[in-house]
Amino acid sequence: MRNKQVIFRDFVLKGAFPKESDMEVTESTIELAGAIAEGSEGVLVKNLYLSCDPYMRGRMRKLTDPSESYIASFQPGSPVTGVGVARVLESGHPNFKKGDLVWGLTGWEEYSLLPALQTCFKIEHTDVPLSYYTGLLGMPGLTAYAGFIELCSPKKGETVFVSAASGAVGQLVGQLAKLFGCYVVGSAGSKEKVDLLKNKLGFDEAFNYKEESDLDAALKRYFPEGIDIYFENVGGKTLDAVLLNMKLHGRIALCGMISQYNLEQPEGVHNLMQIILKRVRMEGFNALDYYHLYPKFLEMVLPPIREGRIVYVEDTVEGLENGPAALVGLFSGRNVGKQVVLVARE
Ligand code: NAP
Repeated sequence: MRNKQVIFRDFVLKGAFPKESDMEVTESTIELAGAIAEGSEGVLVKNLYLSCDPYMRGRMRKLTDPSESYIASFQPGSPVTGVGVARVLESGHPNFKKGDLVWGLTGWEEYSLLPALQTCFKIEHTDVPLSYYTGLLGMPGLTAYAGFIELCSPKKGETVFVSAASGAVGQLVGQLAKLFGCYVVGSAGSKEKVDLLKNKLGFDEAFNYKEESDLDAALKRYFPEGIDIYFENVGGKTLDAVLLNMKLHGRIALCGMISQYNLEQPEGVHNLMQIILKRVRMEGFNALDYYHLYPKFLEMVLPPIREGRIVYVEDTVEGLENGPAALVGLFSGRNVGKQVVLVARE
């Protein structure tokens, strides 16, 4: 059987933006019949949707020391790997059987032979779009839940600021904030995204950070009394300005710093003294440490999704050949909502 693949060509240097040409689309073949050897716990899957995630930039660099990252680099000459939604075609694993739908780590290819499905969840609820398991009901959704609810313990009436707010993680953080009765403001990089935040995703206010020459002044405009919770997705100057506007005992969930991923040298964080003065709690976290809470997360978000009280915006490109452009587009803000690659419609 033909197996189209997105092959990672070579490591991307520190300080460089990833490019489409760092990957190439090729066609190989795969023998589907008898793919699982007797006694193996391997699983053969047909990939349906793939997720483009900012952390994948980290996997494009050559690690000089494994302690630099929690996840291995891509292998030059091998398919890109990432989170996806797939249909099980054959399984030697006791937890998965032929026909199951799963989400977890897979290859950027039409068919993947996975040695073992360890970080993989069986999809039990199919009355929602399957693609949601790359975003809203997948790793980014769990990230929003872990960072906002588990780390920041929001309370009714609190003020919340979210950066990269229209993205895969941010749009859910904002909607969770509204469900908790908070006042929430989001920042994003275009008018279209700002309109989405205000008119579709229920944010109280939103602004285009590219049009604000003084971020501190912008935050003072939207938060005259200060910020209780900041959900950090971008880092750099945004964090500097936020620190000046935090309230006493404010909480900051350090989720990601996409503005720093392609820099030769990360920018320093200024205004750290504010953390002491205002007794702010700032905590970094990794969604991987919260996978055990996935059932609890589903229990919380499925009802509001079904009732239309949580909505989700996706930006879907069709075909593996459009995957590389979609992935590198995350770093210029090309995606409007969660970036998904549709590999196959069933
Ligand atoms: P996303 O927001 O769907 O896509 C990335 C967005 O980041 C772009 O659309 C763009 O939006 C913004 N961006 C890109 N370059 C930027 C820059 N130089 N300065 C400011 N904004 C920039 O991505 P996501 O999946 O939701 O991820 C958001 C953040 O969460 C990332 O930092 C990611 O690494 C992090 N994350 C962390 C975990 C964890 O476990 N800790 C898990 C998932 C994600 P604009 O057009 O609005 O600028």
